[in-house]
Amino acid sequence: MKQFRSKKEIQAWRDDHTGTIGFVPTMGALHAGHISLITRSNEETDRTIASIYVNPAQFNDPDDLNKYPKTLEADLKMLEQAGCDAVYIPSTSDLYPKGTHDLPHYDLGRLDHIWEAEYRPGHFQGVCAVVHRLLDVVQPQQLFMGLKDLQQVAVVRRLLTLLSINVTLTGCPTIRDAHGLALSSRNARLTPAQRVQACCIYEGFMRKLQPFEFEQFLLQNGFESVDYIARCEPNTLEPDDGNEHVVMLVAARIGGIRLIDNHFIS
Ligand code: AMP
Repeated sequence: MKQFRSKKEIQAWRDDHTGTIGFVPTMGALHAGHISLITRSNEETDRTIASIYVNPAQFNDPDDLNKYPKTLEADLKMLEQAGCDAVYIPSTSDLYPKGTHDLPHYDLGRLDHIWEAEYRPGHFQGVCAVVHRLLDVVQPQQLFMGLKDLQQVAVVRRLLTLLSINVTLTGCPTIRDAHGLALSSRNARLTPAQRVQACCIYEGFMRKLQPFEFEQFLLQNGFESVDYIARCEPNTLEPDDGNEHVVMLVAARIGGIRLIDNHFIS
């Protein structure tokens, strides 16, 4: 597996090959959820490139940024074993030559105000900034992202339209552990007891709890707070109680760690 630290090296690698490129952006601390995206890209494109970059522009909470797990050696092994062809590990100066202040503003409409956007102000502007920069550098034909971060997928879809970027975005299913907990790099910070309690999110989905009873269920099972639980239209993520085809969104905190998850209901 090739390892690149600069745009120039990627450009040379692109120019040396023909065929389609699939791209999987990550922030590292990789797990089987990330690897499922690599596998999907390997199936659908000629070459897969991942990136590992903890993007400061998308963290609204400095504590979350400082505590974000870093496991580069293990990440590289996992990518190699998954058959990833290349990985881009940029420095901030390579990715943002003009720094991370004064980034462009992206018109994301309501997606920049509801759910995650309400609780993490500026988060999606930061996501768009980094995805825009990374797509400029990597120039893939296909982009693979996890549906676990459903609003992020909707935001990036809008970004591609907004900037007329000709890249196909594939949203890939959420990978869970044996007890239903959605894999997440932040799970590494849960104690074993909290990890068991965190599975109540999945149990709530399986028991088809309505938002109010769902919230009570989480609060009775070790969660300190619930940011939102809502039934939404799956593309716009606007609240929707009437439709048969909806997605249930959940964001809640346990042990000071904020977990998000979702489940499609039809
Ligand atoms: P992150 O490193 O958290 O920025 O995630 C990188 C990509 O992996 C994003 O597209 C996430 O949606 C995706 N991802 C994270 N967790 C999972 C999971 N449990 N299943 C599938 N995809 C995931």
